[in-house]
Amino acid sequence: MKKNLFAFLLTFTLLIPSAAFGQQAVRITPAERRMAAAITAAQLSSYLHFVASDAMGGRDTPSQGLDITAEFIKMNLQRWGFKPAGDNGTFFQKMALRRDTVDAANAFVEIGGLKFAYGKDFMRVAGNNTGSVSAPIVYAGNGWIVKSKNLNAYQNIDVKGKYIAVYAEGIPSNQYIVPLPTGVVAADLQGEFGRDWADAVTYARQNGAVGVIVLPSKFLQENWEGLRQRFGRTRYYVEKLAAPPAAPPTTASVPSIFVASPEVANSIFAGESANPLRGNAGNSFDLNPNKKINFNIVPKSESVMTQNVVGVWEGSDRVLKNEMVAIGAHYDHVGTNPNAPGPDKIWNGADDDGSGTVAVLAIAEALAKAKTRPKRSVLFVWHAGEEKGLWGAEYFNKFPTVDIKNVVAQLNIDMIGRSKKPGDTNPKNKDLTGENAIYVIGSEMMSSTLGAITKQTNDAFLKMTYDYKYDDPKDTNRFFFRSDHYHYAVNGIPIAFWFDGVHEDYHQPGDHADKIDYTKMERVTRTIFLTMLELADLKIRPQIDKQLSPELTGR
Ligand SMILES: [Zn+2]
Repeated sequence: MKKNLFAFLLTFTLLIPSAAFGQQAVRITPAERRMAAAITAAQLSSYLHFVASDAMGGRDTPSQGLDITAEFIKMNLQRWGFKPAGDNGTFFQKMALRRDTVDAANAFVEIGGLKFAYGKDFMRVAGNNTGSVSAPIVYAGNGWIVKSKNLNAYQNIDVKGKYIAVYAEGIPSNQYIVPLPTGVVAADLQGEFGRDWADAVTYARQNGAVGVIVLPSKFLQENWEGLRQRFGRTRYYVEKLAAPPAAPPTTASVPSIFVASPEVANSIFAGESANPLRGNAGNSFDLNPNKKINFNIVPKSESVMTQNVVGVWEGSDRVLKNEMVAIGAHYDHVGTNPNAPGPDKIWNGADDDGSGTVAVLAIAEALAKAKTRPKRSVLFVWHAGEEKGLWGAEYFNKFPTVDIKNVVAQLNIDMIGRSKKPGDTNPKNKDLTGENAIYVIGSEMMSSTLGAITKQTNDAFLKMTYDYKYDDPKDTNRFFFRSDHYHYAVNGIPIAFWFDGVHEDYHQPGDHADKIDYTKMERVTRTIFLTMLELADLKIRPQIDKQLSPELTGR
């Protein structure tokens, strides 16, 4: 067999540590099997039909559905006698979320003696300047420079100290709020960005304009409410974790980009020789220099609280109970989308990650029902904000409510409820695991002991197919980065992650509780329960004997 030298050395190293720590092959005792048997498909199904019901509204962060789910988890932990491990003796680790938005009630635009309301007649779609900015206006057609197509909207005009009004049919995108002109495609954007081609926002920034006014194309008028939903509301961020989300690069220093209603647009062009809304404005031109438009933006920041749910099942050993095996999932998903094309507006997130949420709950219940306690304690964390960017896991690792140095390993469960049926040829399910298989990611990356126990527990129990293909650091899916375990790993805690694979309902409104394979979910959950028990009773905590490859730590 062809192997490189390094691989040979590694295998050798692998053997030494586990042997050195006298770790026996895993054997599942009858008592442990009875404990695991407390986890049932029926139990999982009843919890999941609650957590992923339409009533939870897809558990966005923040949302009422998320808060109700948190209360549900807390209620059960209290009933089962768990120790609260959140803030101040509670089960919640609170996280303050904040968003900087516009005080619509006090913001206005004024032109020609007329005042227009925020939200109804204009809204800011990018930029973060506030206060009152009054300036003259220049009209710049579609606002683009595309030298490869001999397009330059700024040939005869100077935009310095002015608002640039632009009109372009087509659909705005996050990248270009002013859509590409008709007949121009991305391939036409050749040469140097900002010189040989530039959108209105970039040109405005580079040439000292005070802002850009996007005039109401047919698309904008028809989709005003949708745009108001999308642009009228900025995103939340976690106050203690990061600076407010940066504006898209093209708008960084330009104060503001506005979209205007027909009423505002017609007031802008009142008394001018041409009005793009009437289709008679060909080339760019300066509007009456005495005419000024005044945008008055009043900032407002909104804060709401959300929470991780944190509890501990205390271990039985006088010394080892100070150490913890952590087990977690994310109890949030992406919420609802009122503008969704189909009738179903709720992203229920039954598999993602309702399945993990209730699997962790069932593991907690099995511990509570068991006659004996493991030696080490078991730390349970249900993370919020995973879909927003692993918020809850990052927060817990940066502001832990327990002594995180004593966390010996973290077991993460994110999507274990779906299985690919024989004969399923749907390309969207090509990587979905079968009824008796699951992906295991990361278990062999930091601690050979954790890797061995994860593998051996399965071998000694249900012998499911453990697929390690996503451990390849070159795998383009980068699943190692994409769920909560990541922040524990970066924090130096060995992790193991269970995942069923992307499928046809991944991040779709169709991710419902009645599509879950509860038999598979029961098998995976019981196996993870036993893996947790093995780790909790280990004589010596798993040693970190491997470095995460740089590709994985991004360092
Ligand atoms: Zn997920």
